[in-house]
Amino acid sequence: MLSMGCVFCRIIAGELPSRKVYEDEGFVAFHDIRPKAPVHVLVVPKEHVEKLSDYPDTEEGERKLGALFRTANRVARVLGLEGYRVQVNVGEKGGQEVFHVHVHVMGGWG
Ligand code: 5GP
Ligand code: ZN
Repeated sequence: MLSMGCVFCRIIAGELPSRKVYEDEGFVAFHDIRPKAPVHVLVVPKEHVEKLSDYPDTEEGERKLGALFRTANRVARVLGLEGYRVQVNVGEKGGQEVFHVHVHVMGGWG
């Protein structure tokens, strides 16, 4: 379910613009508005979940986590990144600013 108070849900709904690089049934990926690497993309599940640690410790949670990281690899492949970093900030104390799960994919050095 989309949450319209959430900036990433609004991007997913097409209400806010983004530079999209990938989309499938469950995920979207777009360039970070304040890139911290030559290529910095956010991989975002369409389902609104606030943070990574909210995925339950169940098979379903495991499937969703797996799909998120599989998609991060796919997006890196689509972008032609040979090597890259993935980062997930979890919770305020983990530096999370946008409370809709996302994986940072950063690369493009050298
Ligand atoms: P966090 O710290 O939550 O892991 O990272 C959130 C990221 O989202 C930040 O790197 C920030 O630059 C990016 N961001 C915040 N608002 C927007 C936006 O409206 N559009 C895009 N493309 N990125 C955003
Ligand atoms: Zn959301």
